[in-house]
Amino acid sequence: MGKKINVTIWNEFRHEKTDDAVKALYPDGIHAYLKSVLECDELNITLAALDDPDQGLPDDVLNSTDVLVWWAHMYHWDVTEELANKIRDRVLGGMGLILLHSAHYSKVIQKVVGMTGHLTWGDEVKEVVWNINPTHPIAAGIPTHFILPKEEIYGEPFQIPEPDELVFIGWYETGHVFRSGCTWRRGYGKVFYFQPGHESVPTYYNKYVQRIIKNAIFWAAPTGDEGYQIQYGSPYIGGKFVPDGEIEGFAK
Ligand code: ZN
Repeated sequence: MGKKINVTIWNEFRHEKTDDAVKALYPDGIHAYLKSVLECDELNITLAALDDPDQGLPDDVLNSTDVLVWWAHMYHWDVTEELANKIRDRVLGGMGLILLHSAHYSKVIQKVVGMTGHLTWGDEVKEVVWNINPTHPIAAGIPTHFILPKEEIYGEPFQIPEPDELVFIGWYETGHVFRSGCTWRRGYGKVFYFQPGHESVPTYYNKYVQRIIKNAIFWAAPTGDEGYQIQYGSPYIGGKFVPDGEIEGFAK
């Protein structure tokens, strides 16, 4: 096993301070709860919140993050353009990005994936999450389907670019359906959007939901052993180019 994967879990962390129902489920915040269930030897997990200095992602944190997990809902527009652009550039350069629930409307997903995120939405009802891609790494350990007794309806049409891979489809007792687990490749980075995770229901307590997020982190992480140095987004050629031999000074 190589070096640990640096994971940063970013959360608006505002609902948990103002809404009693959310506070009861996640007293230290959704991000802290996710950290507590994801922690393992292979992951080095950092927490970040919108109201932290530099909106939780100063350059040294962002630039050392291998996989960024993003939970956001009501304050997408408080995230600065500058930060959203930096995150986009990091993903294009290889950082993994996991977008949870209402991050479908985040500046980050709009900039990285290229989408409005418009969808049909409604009440909290029973959802059946169907695993339609059982050999995909993100679906490891997940049965054919599992049930969330209450989840917010996110229904089609979902205004997204065609996903590279669909891993999960959600069906609601109202009859709505949704592409609940989608992957995209953007630049050198891997992106996963996962729909379950409304703040006022205990979705993140579900062991399959936890497993999916953990699987996605390992799937999205860059190898950590890239064979050449990237500088300003491009392979760095430091030395003299020798056409029929090794490139001198093409140092790692
Ligand atoms: Zn929600």
